[in-house]
Amino acid sequence: MWLRCGCAASLRVLASPLRVLGLRRCNTAAFMPESTGFGGVSGRSGLQEFSVSSSESFWAAVARHRLSWIRPFTAVQDCDLSRGRIRWFEGGKLNVSVNCLDRHVHTCPDRVALMWERDEKGSEVRYTYRELLEMTCRVGNLLRRHGVKKGDCVTIYMPTCPLAVASMLACARIGAAHNVVFAGFSAEALAERIRDAQSSTVITVNQGIRGGKILELKKTVDTAVQSCPTVQQVFVAMRTDSPVAMTARDIAMEEVRQQREMLKEDVVCEPAAMNSEDTLFLLYTSGSTGKPKGLVHTQAGYLLYAALTHRYVFNYHDGDVFGCVADIGWITGHSYGVYGPLANGGTTVLFESTPVYPDPGRYWDMVERLQINQFYGAPTAIRLLLKFGDEWVNKYDRSSLKTLGSVGEPINTEAWEWYYRVVGEERCPVVDTWWQTETGGICIAPRPSDPDAEIVPGMAMRPFFGIKPALMDTEGKVISGNDASGALCLAQPWPGMARTIHNDHQRFMETYCQPYPGYFFTGDGAYRSVEGYYQITGRLDDVINVSGHRIGTAEIEDAVCPAVAESAVIGYSHDIKGQAVFAFVVLKKNVDVEEADLSRQLNGIVSEKIAKYACPDFIQFVQRLPKTRSGKIMRRVLRKVVELDLDSLGDLSTLDDPAAVQEIIQGHRELLSK
Ligand code: AMP
Repeated sequence: MWLRCGCAASLRVLASPLRVLGLRRCNTAAFMPESTGFGGVSGRSGLQEFSVSSSESFWAAVARHRLSWIRPFTAVQDCDLSRGRIRWFEGGKLNVSVNCLDRHVHTCPDRVALMWERDEKGSEVRYTYRELLEMTCRVGNLLRRHGVKKGDCVTIYMPTCPLAVASMLACARIGAAHNVVFAGFSAEALAERIRDAQSSTVITVNQGIRGGKILELKKTVDTAVQSCPTVQQVFVAMRTDSPVAMTARDIAMEEVRQQREMLKEDVVCEPAAMNSEDTLFLLYTSGSTGKPKGLVHTQAGYLLYAALTHRYVFNYHDGDVFGCVADIGWITGHSYGVYGPLANGGTTVLFESTPVYPDPGRYWDMVERLQINQFYGAPTAIRLLLKFGDEWVNKYDRSSLKTLGSVGEPINTEAWEWYYRVVGEERCPVVDTWWQTETGGICIAPRPSDPDAEIVPGMAMRPFFGIKPALMDTEGKVISGNDASGALCLAQPWPGMARTIHNDHQRFMETYCQPYPGYFFTGDGAYRSVEGYYQITGRLDDVINVSGHRIGTAEIEDAVCPAVAESAVIGYSHDIKGQAVFAFVVLKKNVDVEEADLSRQLNGIVSEKIAKYACPDFIQFVQRLPKTRSGKIMRRVLRKVVELDLDSLGDLSTLDDPAAVQEIIQGHRELLSK
């Protein structure tokens, strides 16, 4: 009896972990095929731990499996964050456009690569992988024939369209770097970026069209290049039928379907063999000074990271239609409109319009028409659409949707819940993705995770593979416990990170590497919850210190009030408290409440949800907030208004609607005179 019992018991003990291991191993391998070489790692959390503790083995396997190499790499990484030295996959040679196009043309030439959702609703155009490769090769040959060579930098000033994507990939094909400038930037802003990038070639279109309005892009380029002595040639494609004045430096390129110069070109273009660490692109972003920073991303590491995050954060599978509505002028458009989906052989939507053109149902009409499976948008648009009510969403069939993504700023709980409940009908996970131009791809997001793992509204939550976040206290020490806030750093390098700032490695060091030696400083603050989940609390320059208590502007903004559509909170100097809180508030449409009552209500909610010290000293009700065209609230401008420093409002040309500022200044005067 004893023996049998003992045998049975020990068998059970032995058998059950083996069975569990076997099962898990099988699931983990199906989830990530490379994991079979990771020595028994199982489950998503096991993979995450392995990717951080055995970072070299993880990235080596993934890079071998997911990229096509002309020559294999000899070293996985050679990084030293304290010296700002970041190198991945050295010794390897590859071509990014081959990875994004040719290898898919071999296996599925007629698969749709791009769905171009033009500004004119219902006139979408599809391009197969074969067509996109042909267009890319023609542009590549055209550039080569006009003297563009490996190592040059081509500035692209175009709306989101297939020819812009082909231009980016054509640069990659011939070994030139690209510098895409958002086509809403002013001539001055464009010129500054062309000069800093030392571009001799610009690609643009005659006119853009967005929200039914014509944008004179070629004219903007004409003005910009007047102060850019390096520019020798401007290629001009035709987005509309209106001819534009051409100068001696302009070359008519025209849309692929009626190509002129491009038609002369061969549809075969020999890809350049690029080193892993050659520059793929520059992308300018704002820093704390007035001068934009040209962040440098390189070939292999960036592409791999964009592809892996696209596949796992959004649970993208072959055959899915991926709908990222970001403009190609921003990093989100680069990584999740172009490189990530194309490296994965996916179908990606290029969205040229606005969320409210011709009406607030535009996104959801597009979801139904294009059968979008993953929708990736910005909280600012979600908040805007929320104001118009559920009927604009419910009009359309959204049953194709599987995952909803959010990026760019913290998504407040009300917007998150509306997105989840109304748009996703409570069946699609909402992934709040935290990352930056500097990180190249998503670093913190609720997915991937174990299936059905909880998602907390408004939290980015879990680090991606290879990402090790660290929170720092005010003395620069690592905070070890949970339920803590601090400066968000990344404790080890990952392949997608920016390598430097173009022409200014010193600034790269000072901004990202020196504040916390040995760590990459993100400039953001974060809270780590009791459970170990991360929540971004906002830029550290937006953190307010009220009477010695730190409070994130995002935290106050998130204190939802049913009547508020959106708000922007800033800190301003206060004689007694050091800093105090000033809130700009946009009300929902048709709200009929006395402002004084509403102020009381808001203060009540803030003191209830956070603390009394976080209550705004001033609340100004405004019609709209000053925003960049990518939807970011320009807090710098609001701060200047509050500080009555109107002479240094700075460059307002990047604002979506500069008139909003005048309204706010006027309202502020009235508020002070009350
Ligand atoms: P950009 O480089 O222009 O994409 O801006 C990156 C910055 O946007 C980050 O440093 C954050 O401050 C903010 N950001 C981006 N995504 C999120 C997010 N999911 N939650 C909170 N803030 C975000």
